[in-house]
Amino acid sequence: MSESTEREPTVFERIVAGEIPSTKVFESERVLGIRDIAPKAPIHLLLFPKTAEYANVADLAAGDPALLAEIVGIAQQLADEHANGQYRLTFNTGADAGQTVFHVHAHVLADPTRTGGLTEGSL
Ligand code: AMP
Repeated sequence: MSESTEREPTVFERIVAGEIPSTKVFESERVLGIRDIAPKAPIHLLLFPKTAEYANVADLAAGDPALLAEIVGIAQQLADEHANGQYRLTFNTGADAGQTVFHVHAHVLADPTRTGGLTEGSL
């Protein structure tokens, strides 16, 4: 009897599949951008590849650097649209660093009001 290697889909895979609702802010052929369900800054967006192939940013950089560059470019575009073009880009990598979803994703954090909503260490 062969052992199953199937794993549970990540929450972002389920969002890509339309199984879980989300507030989309960006969509391209390979990337989805949504609002974080529990924002930790006045603007808190998440960007992730539609593929669930890469668990973290190091895997993505090694496997598809062009896709990582695309995500960084979209982060700037969204920060221009939603804030003043200044933002924090975070990829939590590993459970000990706070990663809870093992489907690579960028946090785009910004405070367009400049009221201190992006204090150092807030994520
Ligand atoms: P991390 O802790 O770096 O893995 O980030 C996972 C992020 O996903 C957290 O900031 C969560 O608030 C966010 N999150 C989890 N589930 C959802 C969801 N259904 N829609 C939007 N954001 C989510």
